[in-house]
Amino acid sequence: MDALRTCNRARVVGLALLLGYATAPAVEDLSPSQQQFLVGNTLWTLVHEMGHALISELDIHVLGREEDVADLLASLALLHGTPNHAHGDEEIDYLWAAAVGWRTEWWLSRHDGDPTPYWDSHSLDIQRYYNIVCLMYGHNPEMLEQHPDLDLPGGRAVGCSDHEYLRAEGSVRRMLAIYGRSERQPGGAKVAVRFEAPTRAGHQPLADIVEASGVAAHVAEQTEMLFVLPRPISLVFGACLGDESAFWRPELGEIVVCYDLLERFVYLHGLHQCLERADEDSLAARRSCARSVTRYPAGG
Ligand SMILES: [Zn+2]
Repeated sequence: MDALRTCNRARVVGLALLLGYATAPAVEDLSPSQQQFLVGNTLWTLVHEMGHALISELDIHVLGREEDVADLLASLALLHGTPNHAHGDEEIDYLWAAAVGWRTEWWLSRHDGDPTPYWDSHSLDIQRYYNIVCLMYGHNPEMLEQHPDLDLPGGRAVGCSDHEYLRAEGSVRRMLAIYGRSERQPGGAKVAVRFEAPTRAGHQPLADIVEASGVAAHVAEQTEMLFVLPRPISLVFGACLGDESAFWRPELGEIVVCYDLLERFVYLHGLHQCLERADEDSLAARRSCARSVTRYPAGG
């Protein structure tokens, strides 16, 4: 399941450019911290999946693994925000939430989950974590002061600021120059956003938080602004019978985000907080987190 989620939990870029969401509404069931973690991980996932969609729809040339490219696009999008959106801490917090999500997934798979699928098309969860924090550090080395728990070894950090970030940013700019929409070019097909009715009552608040945050509508708007799509595509939030994933369906032109994946983000948030509180030297205490943290009560 982890492999599935990973891929699927696969997720775009603004390609230099997302952001500017509304504050999520007060939902009694979830704390502000939970909501922020949920929205951040959902946004990163949406951009990752939009990356797959753009590669497919625009026949973008990819050197290397597509999953790594989609990860990179998602992380750069959250680092940059939109040109007319003052760069603030919100998107960085969202990106940090996504990084912590992957780090927590890694811990879970190592200590209380399914064996790690080394054969998978995605980088390992912990590599996805370090790839995100490398870009965060390369973008702004002061990030280490804001997030001392980045845990980025010096051997990698040097290359992040000297090379990795600049190479990634330059490549995305080149991609936008080649495949992006020019200023005078008319817009292409539209990106629709649809929240289907959850089949489990407990998923409704999660859907409400994500919808009210505006992140899906924003990813759709930015995609329309930056690219000329040859056909309409949809961002669909829907019920997936327990599948904790998100995926691009080229045959339908749909990006699907399962409500079960949103539920998993809330679980990962609780697990992360428990691990933070647990004695770092006590594996037993940390392992007990996996058993003591309850899944989000989706009910039904
Ligand atoms: Zn993917």
